[in-house]
Amino acid sequence: MSERPIPDDEAFNQSPPFVDVNLFTSDIALREAVRREGAAWAYQDLTAFGALAGSAASLELGRLANEHPPELESFDPQGRRIDRVEFHPAYHQLMEISTAQGLHCSTWEHLAASVSPKPGAHVARCAGSYMAAQMEAGHCCPITMTHAAVASLRHAPDLAQDLLPKIFARAYDPSTVPIEEKAAITLGMGMTERQGGTDVRANTTRAETLDGAGPGKVYAITGHKWFLSSPMSDAFLVLAQAKGGLSCFFLPRLTSDGSLNGLKLQRLKDKLGNRSNASAEVEFDRAQGVLVGEEGRGIPTIIDMVTLTRLDCAVSSAGLMRQAIARAIQHARHRSVFQKRLIDQPLMAQVLADMALDVEAATALAFRLTRAFDDDSEGDAAYRRLMTPVTKYWVCKAAPALAYEAMECLGGNGYVEDGGFPRLYREVPVNGIWEGSGNVMCLDVLRVIEREPETLSKVIVQFGAVASAEPRLKQAVTRIEALAQDVGRDQSVARALVELLALAAAAALLARYAPRHVSDAFLATRLGGSWRNTYGAGLASANTSAIVDRAAPQLS
Ligand SMILES: Cc1cc2nc3c(=O)[nH]c(=O)nc-3n(C[C@H](O)[C@H](O)[C@H](O)COP(=O)(O)OP(=O)(O)OC[C@H]3O[C@@H](n4cnc5c(N)ncnc54)[C@H](O)[C@@H]3O)c2cc1C
Repeated sequence: MSERPIPDDEAFNQSPPFVDVNLFTSDIALREAVRREGAAWAYQDLTAFGALAGSAASLELGRLANEHPPELESFDPQGRRIDRVEFHPAYHQLMEISTAQGLHCSTWEHLAASVSPKPGAHVARCAGSYMAAQMEAGHCCPITMTHAAVASLRHAPDLAQDLLPKIFARAYDPSTVPIEEKAAITLGMGMTERQGGTDVRANTTRAETLDGAGPGKVYAITGHKWFLSSPMSDAFLVLAQAKGGLSCFFLPRLTSDGSLNGLKLQRLKDKLGNRSNASAEVEFDRAQGVLVGEEGRGIPTIIDMVTLTRLDCAVSSAGLMRQAIARAIQHARHRSVFQKRLIDQPLMAQVLADMALDVEAATALAFRLTRAFDDDSEGDAAYRRLMTPVTKYWVCKAAPALAYEAMECLGGNGYVEDGGFPRLYREVPVNGIWEGSGNVMCLDVLRVIEREPETLSKVIVQFGAVASAEPRLKQAVTRIEALAQDVGRDQSVARALVELLALAAAAALLARYAPRHVSDAFLATRLGGSWRNTYGAGLASANTSAIVDRAAPQLS
């Protein structure tokens, strides 16, 4: 006798797909951070974007853009070099979604009207970026770079005046035509060379004058870049050695007659994740670039762009952490094991709550840092300077471990490609590596403390009254101050110092703004001195179900 085939609808005890979830309204910590840090005015817009970014249709675009990664087309059928990268249509649609939201430009739009920046503009934009990363992280690279490049372009006011209207267009134009013929453009950056990405002073790419030296002048650039992401951008800010030293140039991909501007895309990187985004190795053969800022001031000029990309790395990693915990909780809510839902199994509740604490911390840190970019007070300037590397370091390092643990919460389904979790897992390490890897962030923190020791006290004072009232936080601050005494003598203190600064800043934020059950558990486990090595230890006395309830996606 033949067995009855299992009908499709008998796949019981499986969690539903995590789609059509509003990434804004479902996320309590995000909503609170946006309000607290000054962008409550953007709620309506973020609610609409949250629905779009979390929709099944948008997530499907993300899947397609990664399943069909970009391909390099070096030659046309007749053998002429074209150096083009072909993307799946889904990638272009994702770019359309994020540019329509203004994620590549919204914080700069006041420049067009010559008015003051809108308070909370960075916070509103970063809330969008946090959700866009959850929709699909790879396309966020050109979005981030375009947004950040404006900061460096301000060193070339005439050039900026021509370009800004094309950057401000809330549109996406992937056509291969000169910038002059475009209504909307995207920008990339080229710093890293074969022999070094951190030590850009070792760049060998040369810039020779063509019509005289100085800001706004055109130079011929010859050399290479080992990583040039989004190589179909309309132009790049690149570093090259001029007579006066390492300098920053604006280098269009095409000349104004539409021919290639001496750029040869050698190959595309075969990357662990971030596969929808193309990252190329490129050679420059007398490519023409305009000097931005002064000769020899390349690093100070491009650092304005780099700083903003570091902020985005932290925000994007926090968004990916949110996606990971939301999916883990969603699964645990629906999956039963031994006649009990996973979420009600005490050990699983501990693991989920412990992860939720890191997501709370990452979100609070990322948006507090974001507000520092909206505000020009002395305190915010200090926060921006010290806490950008601290936040980038800690959030980007927390994300891979959390993504792994969250994947495990889904059991075997977490490991299987069609569930989407492997893509999330492969994506997260990149934010720690690019735009300043872990040690580089730590060395930056040491540099700040050594050169401007008052910056540290200006940040610590912002921890507020809780820093003296709460003994564990008080102890952490004492330890930070002690470690800071050693920075000039001993680099080995750097990681301990940076991690403690991140934890103390997060604890101060949570103690002030999060429910007691969250901040108490965070303080007890992160600053309480208890032994812990993986998620799910040390929370015996915590209200784990309340912590998990708050982190659970709030579905309408
Ligand atoms: C997917 C992807 C896309 C990228 N896109 C771009 C792009 O568009 N444009 C661009 O310019 N670059 C890009 N990069 C390059 C990236 O920014 C560099 O890889 C990064 O800056 C590190 O440089 P590196 O690879 O040369 O490593 P190295 O500089 O050799 O560093 C290697 C390791 O040494 C550590 N280290 C460095 N100095 C010290 C020190 N003094 N003490 C202790 N440790 C130290 C670093 O933290 C790092 O962990 C991209 C990278 C990736 C992975």
